[in-house]
Amino acid sequence: MQKILVTGALGQIGTELVMKLREVYGADQVIATDLKSSAHEITRSGPFELLDVTNDKAMFDIANKYQVDTVIHLAALLSATAEEKPLLAWNLNMGGLMNALEVSRELGCQFFTPSSIGAFGPTTPKDNTPQDTIQRPNTMYGVNKVSGELLCDYYFHKYGLDTRGLRFPGLISYMTPPGGGTTDYAVEIYYAAVTAGKYTSYIAKDTNMDMMYMPDALEAIIDLMEADSSRLSHRNSFNVTAMSVDPEAIAAEIRKQMPDFTLDYQIDPVRQGIAESWPHSIDATAAKTEWGFKAQYDLEAMTKDMLVQLGKKGE
Ligand code: NAD
Repeated sequence: MQKILVTGALGQIGTELVMKLREVYGADQVIATDLKSSAHEITRSGPFELLDVTNDKAMFDIANKYQVDTVIHLAALLSATAEEKPLLAWNLNMGGLMNALEVSRELGCQFFTPSSIGAFGPTTPKDNTPQDTIQRPNTMYGVNKVSGELLCDYYFHKYGLDTRGLRFPGLISYMTPPGGGTTDYAVEIYYAAVTAGKYTSYIAKDTNMDMMYMPDALEAIIDLMEADSSRLSHRNSFNVTAMSVDPEAIAAEIRKQMPDFTLDYQIDPVRQGIAESWPHSIDATAAKTEWGFKAQYDLEAMTKDMLVQLGKKGE
């Protein structure tokens, strides 16, 4: 990776990833793009361009203008929003991905896009979900993610394009709010703990899902992209995770720092339904053995850091 184009850069992952990539590879080397602009630091700390990823010509022109050698494609509609707007989700998630793959093929770029635990479905084994297993998701987001994994594999086999990807669990961060996913509760709960001392969860007790703290997700992207290609046999869909938790487990950890924190429930049937179709915990052995994946933050370490950082933000 030397000159990197990032799509969807103003989202939850993109804002932090662009800052990190600019630190590691140089500010001018990372071209941040998004549908809309904002006052966020990434629009000022290096190149920023407006880009609608469904516009293939505009994407090619920007990639060509900066002579990028890497495309990190993040623009997408997330699971809960995709369920509300399935047609938009298909057009954005599949159309944007196809454009990004084509631009990468034409310019010979290395390519990364995230998949998700949403790529699994109700018939997938739920505990210690294997790397290679049944994938019959029943959500539009899941259909998009499985199709995306297959499409990226196809571009590797057909054209030799260096495509790579991770199946992210719910990502937790204190910097940018999440963008309409099923695991958003696990971010909201920390904000609510700091601001109100209580939280009403839309996900039910005992609904375990995988999660990971954002610093580990950023490290994982860079480590996978820098890994020796010959060691990768899975390429586009590595299971990665740091913890499997339900709302009670997070609340119990928060109470270690804030004993008066209270949690109650008002279940959202749509997001609960999506959560129930996903694994309880996934097996990240392939990522560990093929490119050395290791998460630094468990629930305890993440909770401590989240509460400290959000406390500082509120000061
Ligand atoms: P997000 O919703 O926070 O951000 C998406 C960004 O894409 C937004 O800034 C939005 O403005 C932009 N965008 C929307 N439509 C666009 C278009 N037509 N053209 C260009 N940009 C457009 O999403 P995120 O959480 O940063 O997720 C990024 C990727 O990671 C997605 O593929 C998502 O499926 C995947 N992922 C995220 C998580 C998570 O917990 N955040 C977990 C698993 C996978």
